[in-house]
Amino acid sequence: MNEIFSIEGKVAVITGAGGVLGGSIAKSFVKAGAKVVAMDIRQENLDVRVKELTDLGGEAIGLVGNVLDIPSLDAAAQEIIKKWGRIDILLNIAGGNIPGATLAPDQEFFDMKIADWDKVTNLNMNGTVYPSYVFGNVMSKQKSGSIINISSMAALQSITRVPGYSAAKAAVSNFTQWLATEMSMKYGDGVRVNAIAPGFFIGDQNRAVLLNPDGSLTERSVKVLANTPMNRFGDINELNGAVQFLCSEAASFITGVVLPIDGGFSIYSGV
Ligand code: NAD
Repeated sequence: MNEIFSIEGKVAVITGAGGVLGGSIAKSFVKAGAKVVAMDIRQENLDVRVKELTDLGGEAIGLVGNVLDIPSLDAAAQEIIKKWGRIDILLNIAGGNIPGATLAPDQEFFDMKIADWDKVTNLNMNGTVYPSYVFGNVMSKQKSGSIINISSMAALQSITRVPGYSAAKAAVSNFTQWLATEMSMKYGDGVRVNAIAPGFFIGDQNRAVLLNPDGSLTERSVKVLANTPMNRFGDINELNGAVQFLCSEAASFITGVVLPIDGGFSIYSGV
């Protein structure tokens, strides 16, 4: 039974691997025997990550790459093919909100700078589309592979103060369904595309809006927990099992799903 969940020996490209969520998944992947290509725009993030992964006894390389730059992704794909001959898994994790694109409590939509809207939508939408275009093309030639995107609760229903991030994550969910359909119609069950939609996890990008400097809950996080039947935030490691499942043989007939991992936030009516 356990074998159908195996990702042992699979070559997995993880964008944003220098970050919190990418780091947690990368570590769980090397522990499960995958060969990890950790990709990030920031060299300093990668150096730390690759050392951690190899210290765990895993096979891992770090590649500096920009998910918004096709030539840099093409160069990475060539290097991976030269080293390991194939790409089995793509985890599109690079992304997140940017400070200027979050409206302060006393701001309205019309105060937002359009440049910040452009940055946040570009990173979260195109930062998923471009790596899928480059690494997914390798998978199409192999006629096998699995792509996992990161959507968000903000894609499912309106979350105040984060318009650009929400719109871009809604685009990620839609693109997941579109590409899943396209790949299955062309390559049958060979290339699958799915997404996870994490609920509320305390990370570097949202710590300041969810926790006060003394660690107590902000007014916003009190509301989040009141709408989360499990009444707690997620632990970043609670995403790892779902991602591995979606990449494995156990999910061989699953494509185009956007799986909420949210303690029930998305299904609670508030009553
Ligand atoms: P993080 O900021 O810790 O990590 C993001 C990483 O992406 C960083 O290492 C950064 O250097 C890298 N990056 C940024 N721009 C890049 C680019 N152009 N090319 C390549 N790499 C780039 O963020 P995180 O909390 O780990 O979030 C990762 C993903 O999970 C994001 O898509 C985010 O929207 C999503 N998410 C996070 C949460 C949460 O609570 N943390 C909830 C829902 C969804």
